[in-house]
Amino acid sequence: MVGAILGSIHDIPQNLLQQIKDFEDTFTVDSTKLKQVVDHFVKELEKGLSVEGGNIPMNVTWVLGFPDGYEQGTFLALDMGGTNLRVCEITLTDEKGAFDITQSKYKMPDELRTGTAEELWEYIADCLQQFIEFHHENEDLAKLPLGFTFSYPATQEYIDHGILQRWTKGFDIDGVEGQDVVPPLEEILKKRGLPIKVAALINDTTGTLIASSYTDSQMKIGCIFGTGVNAAYMEDVGSVPKIAHLGLPADMPVAINCEYGAFDNEHVVLPRTEYDCIIDRDSPRPGQQAFEKMTAGLYLGEIFRLALIDLLDSRPGLIFNGQDTSKLRKPYLLDASFLAAIEEDPYENLSETLDLFERQLGIRPTPPELELVRRLAELIGTRAARLSACGVAAICKKKNIESCHVGADGSVFTKYPHFKARGAQALREILDWAPSEKDKVSIMAAEDGSGVGAALIAALTLKRVKAGNL
Ligand code: BGC
Ligand code: MG
Repeated sequence: MVGAILGSIHDIPQNLLQQIKDFEDTFTVDSTKLKQVVDHFVKELEKGLSVEGGNIPMNVTWVLGFPDGYEQGTFLALDMGGTNLRVCEITLTDEKGAFDITQSKYKMPDELRTGTAEELWEYIADCLQQFIEFHHENEDLAKLPLGFTFSYPATQEYIDHGILQRWTKGFDIDGVEGQDVVPPLEEILKKRGLPIKVAALINDTTGTLIASSYTDSQMKIGCIFGTGVNAAYMEDVGSVPKIAHLGLPADMPVAINCEYGAFDNEHVVLPRTEYDCIIDRDSPRPGQQAFEKMTAGLYLGEIFRLALIDLLDSRPGLIFNGQDTSKLRKPYLLDASFLAAIEEDPYENLSETLDLFERQLGIRPTPPELELVRRLAELIGTRAARLSACGVAAICKKKNIESCHVGADGSVFTKYPHFKARGAQALREILDWAPSEKDKVSIMAAEDGSGVGAALIAALTLKRVKAGNL
């Protein structure tokens, strides 16, 4: 549909129309492909649970079961995601599924991503200290157990330890990979007179799963569609061969943090474009997080930018003629909110898109060029949503889940226009629901996983310790 000011589609020059078509071919993932992706995905989830292991880590979290809704107590939660740092104080009250939360959010400075380990821990300690000082009316705050949501792949032998397997989401801080991240945090806090104990180290997806199931017992999967992507679900110990040697009861539930951003790192099935290959090549961790690099918020704007740069370089004169396009050359200049804003433009004349290009890039696209960039944003956003659905569908298939709720969080899920509807449509295609059937697997907004979820997991852990179990 083309609006009045843009004129009719016939006003778009043939070469631009052809280019739009080419982009459609590049970025469209049809039902058949989605199903192929899911079939391979299911096998890779299995492999990750095996003794040999595979690309998808399938990390054992030592979260051993769902909350019953009657957990109680006051906890601190620290959330280190990809973009923000958050400190919370959470009280799980005596009413079923209820809680109170006080929180402060701090922006993680970009330099921190590639700085030193010391800078990272200092910054985290600063934020925690600030939070505690600000809420000093409660003098015991520093004595509360802490749930630390560390949203990166970690190997855990116990719930209050975690060895960082590798950084993701563009982080590249020396001296942390291969190390337990709990001791340096506890040490720096102790140095500052804050004797805080980490009761549990958790992943944001596990937190999301547990927090969502606290208020909705149909929640079986917790997902993040944000700066990074990932999911967690509850497995039976008996289905996790890699921990068989521990001799735990086979029917004991254990949450698995899939870390499925690493799906297809060996490049078997995902329809990667040349832009995806460039993103991988130029990232701090080439060869890793293949699935994440095609679907997560951190990369969507960059895919868009690379596609435009490709046109400028390989088809000179096709777009932005006579304009200074030098700004567009800066890697990661555009984030997912840029694409989201383009997709939110009501379309009549794409004037907001025009504005955005002028303001951020110093480029004034012509009306047909606006049409092209809008279509490109739609294609990239749609591809991300459809591929994202594959991870959820794969877990459902692996676990023979016919119907359930999936708790989802993350900036792409909550803020990117049409993401939910596009993902739901892809699920319908993959899981072959008849047109008359209601969605049997619904991806819905989660409870706050890295706040409430972290507190709940800390509560569940302390309850277990008290009972002398594990
Ligand atoms: C991390 C996961 C995390 C996800 C969403 C990925 O890059 O490896 O641990 O759950 O991002 O935040
Ligand atoms: Mg987060």
